[in-house]
Amino acid sequence: MPVLWYSYHKMYGAYAQTRGPQAARLRQRKAQILRRFPIPDDLLPGSLSRSDLRCGKPTCHCARPKDPGHPVWTLTFMVDGKKRTLHIPHDMVEEVQQRVAAGREFQPAVREVLTANAELLVLARKQGKRQP
Ligand SMILES: [Zn+2]
Repeated sequence: MPVLWYSYHKMYGAYAQTRGPQAARLRQRKAQILRRFPIPDDLLPGSLSRSDLRCGKPTCHCARPKDPGHPVWTLTFMVDGKKRTLHIPHDMVEEVQQRVAAGREFQPAVREVLTANAELLVLARKQGKRQP
């Protein structure tokens, strides 16, 4: 666990400077969409969950019966219909939580705007006016 933990931490710490052709493609695709539609660009999909793990070392605090163990945070999301999970280091949990919450609010907000536009169109027609 600690080795895996560290590697994820290293990976995620480098998130802002991610390099390589795949990262470049993703950034380009994102920039195209953002040019067309002003979307807050840091939204995250999925859900963040916490599990309390026990490392198994008999001398560790987590071996005590009422100890909460080692909290591990995981972001779960779908990519092309496949479920993906990503460990989130402790120092990023708060940020990721906020970004996931903002992402969750965004899609219903877009639907609401579209629905309101349709209803306005209906009202405009009833009032014999064209949409401005
Ligand atoms: Zn432990």
